[in-house]
Amino acid sequence: MALSDLNPVERNEEGIAAVLGILKQQFGERFQTGEAIRSQHAHTTTYIPTQAPDGVVFAETTPEVQEIVRACAAHRVPVIAFGVGSSLEGHTNAPGGGISIDTSRMNRILSVNPQDLDCTVEPGVTREDLNRHLRDTGLFFPIDPGANASLGGMAATRASGTNAVRYGTMRENVLSLTAVMADGEVLTTGKRAKKSSAGYDLTRLLVGSEGTLGIITSLTLRLQGIPQAISGGVCPFPTLEAACNTVIATIQMGIPVARIELVNALQMRAMKNYSKLDYPESPCLFVEFHGSDAGVAEQAETFGMIAEEQGGGPFLWTSVAEERTKLWKARHDAYWSSLTLRPGAKGLSTDVCVPISRLAECVTETEADIAEMGLIAPIVGHAGDGNFHVLVLMDVDNPQEIALAEKFVARLNMRAIAMEGTCTGEHGIGQGKVGFLRHELGHGVDVMRTIKQALDPLNIMNPGKILPRAG
Ligand SMILES: Cc1cc2nc3c(=O)[nH]c(=O)nc-3n(C[C@H](O)[C@H](O)[C@H](O)COP(=O)(O)OP(=O)(O)OC[C@H]3O[C@@H](n4cnc5c(N)ncnc54)[C@H](O)[C@@H]3O)c2cc1C
Repeated sequence: MALSDLNPVERNEEGIAAVLGILKQQFGERFQTGEAIRSQHAHTTTYIPTQAPDGVVFAETTPEVQEIVRACAAHRVPVIAFGVGSSLEGHTNAPGGGISIDTSRMNRILSVNPQDLDCTVEPGVTREDLNRHLRDTGLFFPIDPGANASLGGMAATRASGTNAVRYGTMRENVLSLTAVMADGEVLTTGKRAKKSSAGYDLTRLLVGSEGTLGIITSLTLRLQGIPQAISGGVCPFPTLEAACNTVIATIQMGIPVARIELVNALQMRAMKNYSKLDYPESPCLFVEFHGSDAGVAEQAETFGMIAEEQGGGPFLWTSVAEERTKLWKARHDAYWSSLTLRPGAKGLSTDVCVPISRLAECVTETEADIAEMGLIAPIVGHAGDGNFHVLVLMDVDNPQEIALAEKFVARLNMRAIAMEGTCTGEHGIGQGKVGFLRHELGHGVDVMRTIKQALDPLNIMNPGKILPRAG
């Protein structure tokens, strides 16, 4: 049985037909029902089967989103927000059909406030668009998932990336949001103040809600000053355990590392070939430091010494921007390089996160499991947060391979939960991880369901995601 069948959503044919008619009339060419565009809006990047919506609307303003949501609410039709579709757990699938709201035309940068280190953007602005816009201000937005995701999608999945160890995730970097709720009303969750004790934290309720509570139509984000100096490099290790122990020691010593990324030997082989890197085919850490010239040199030296104590090195580091850019481009392309390890295969990308003290144990047990199960599955990780990814390469036309990959992922999730970690550090629950939420949070799932029922009593907002079916 496919994962998406575990949480089915009934189709409301009559309601869908009514909404298709309304939206055609209201949005004309901006409402599309062709098969290719519908499938593209539900494509899952991984092997989870596509479940296309019945139509896609290219909304341009908050009042338009309100109109769409009100039409869907009146006819009890699902409504699914769409950024760029790079999420990995079936998030944008439409198991009960419905309407996809594509936010790519809501791509205005509404304000940048350099003195306050913040900006307000529409949800369709991508992280790269924003950083291009900020280039001359001396500021940047640090959250960098491997894909050029939309900021609305990133808030909705509580995304992070290589910089999170220093700058936090979307949870720490969204100051406030505007969202259209299931009844069509507009909610503003806060102002621009850096902190607030004003009542329930609605910003953080919506961050990570995966479009199941409301459609985000603007976001106020924290910005950071571009550091005066940056140093970084790659350090090889004899074993994965030695690399993980170096991460733990670096964090525990309070070295303000900006990025510390783990790559196992198989992933390194893929990156060497794909990105033409000249490093040994062994576990490696990609590391970066931000600060003053003297500060980043000192931090790099100290890190090199810690690595040496664990048998690692040499740690070759540089402050030259082009060399660093090549390394981080290779790291961001890890997903694509992995696919070359088994041409024709698709990847199941899964992520877990554990307390940093359990990282070495969790990663080494996982690598042993991969070997025992005979999988081709490289590992990369935002190791400074205790977060790592496994990309299982498989033939998606072979049910036995899918079953084996799902078994592996289940064991990985349960291992992370048993180590007081989580079944997802940054990708989110979507459809793929619905079955693990109760193992992790127990009664917390019932509280989430109560919130969902209060805010979306008709269950129209991205139904079939996050929450397991009641009963
Ligand atoms: C190669 C690759 C590398 C990746 N690396 C990382 C990584 O390092 N870290 C990481 O965190 N993720 C990573 N991801 C996953 C993905 O990029 C993130 O989950 C990202 O945040 C999704 O953004 P999106 O714009 O693609 O959203 P979509 O996929 O379009 O949507 C994701 C979810 O958000 C909801 N949503 C979208 N827009 C809105 C809105 N305006 N309001 C309410 N809900 C909305 C959707 O309904 C859906 O549930 C990676 C993906 C790929 C393909």
